Amino acid sequence: MRPCHWHEDRDGTRSLIPGCHTRAQDPDGEACDCPSLAQQLDKAREEIARLKRELDGARFWCGHVTAAVHAHRDGLDIMQDAARRAEADIAARKSARLPSPR
Ligand SMILES: [Zn+2]
Repeated sequence: MRPCHWHEDRDGTRSLIPGCHTRAQDPDGEACDCPSLAQQLDKAREEIARLKRELDGARFWCGHVTAAVHAHRDGLDIMQDAARRAEADIAARKSARLPSPR
């Protein structure tokens, strides 16, 4: 199903819900420039793959930073400070009714 589609009310009134400029310009025409489901799926899969690569990169870097902090003589204090900051951030987000990152 493409974003352009006809909606029919209970009284039988039909309305085109355009998803592309072509169909908005010519509601009765057959031309539609909306991406197909297969195209939308391909795009979603590409986006998921990109996000996984970014997450892998962030985890890789975070692992090395964490190892370096633990190896530092003040590592425990730094990690405790990071935990306090994270908890304060989560509390602030919660009071502002913002989504929490975890
Ligand atoms: Zn369309």
